[in-house]
Amino acid sequence: MSDADVVIVGDGPTGLSAALLLEKNGQDTIVLGEDETPMHQARLLNILGIEDEDGTPFMERAREQARSFGADLREARVTGAGETNGSFVAETEDGDTVTGDRLVLATGTDRSLAEDLDLAMDGDVIEADKEGFTSREGVLAGGWAIRPHKVQAANSIGDGASIALSILSAEAGEPVHDFDIAD
Ligand SMILES: Cc1cc2nc3c(=O)[nH]c(=O)nc-3n(C[C@H](O)[C@H](O)[C@H](O)COP(=O)(O)OP(=O)(O)OC[C@H]3O[C@@H](n4cnc5c(N)ncnc54)[C@H](O)[C@@H]3O)c2cc1C
Repeated sequence: MSDADVVIVGDGPTGLSAALLLEKNGQDTIVLGEDETPMHQARLLNILGIEDEDGTPFMERAREQARSFGADLREARVTGAGETNGSFVAETEDGDTVTGDRLVLATGTDRSLAEDLDLAMDGDVIEADKEGFTSREGVLAGGWAIRPHKVQAANSIGDGASIALSILSAEAGEPVHDFDIAD
């Protein structure tokens, strides 16, 4: 029995964006991380719709927004990852294990878990297509984990959304858009 439909390792813009969309669409999602994103050093002048804001309040709002849809954000450092009987397992520093039907790596520049999962790499970044699929079925990745350069909050948020839509589409057996219509 899985703890969650989707386990996300990493609580930066990529992981939180994926978590929000997944939970919004009924996928039970656990996010493991320590809120150590470099976004805390950023002054955001480059995100559409945000005029000028430091990264810390932006991330606080993002965490709260993901939680408000039901995402389970847990403070934990993941030290190992693997697959057992068709479920993915994330092992934390504290000795806990969290399992999921799918695993998302949104770990920024720390790509060490890719080795545990035997993922194909492109140099020192995880190889993934534009939908977030890696070389291993059930494992998706995005953001700084898959980009050597040219990474910013906006394309990380976009990668998280692509990952979520890929998972939702796989579940639905047809492409999913997640459009909402204003009154
Ligand atoms: C100094 C600086 C300033 C920046 N300023 C800007 C800016 O002004 N505008 C902009 O758009 N971008 C800026 N960026 C870039 C921006 O921070 C990144 O594009 C963005 O954070 C990438 O998001 P991500 O979610 O892919 O990775 P990250 O934000 O790096 O998130 C990864 C998260 O996963 C966690 N993690 C990693 N491994 C594990 C593990 N094993 N277990 C648990 N948790 C784990 C990390 O602690 C981190 O919290 C800046 C970057 C730096 C370094």
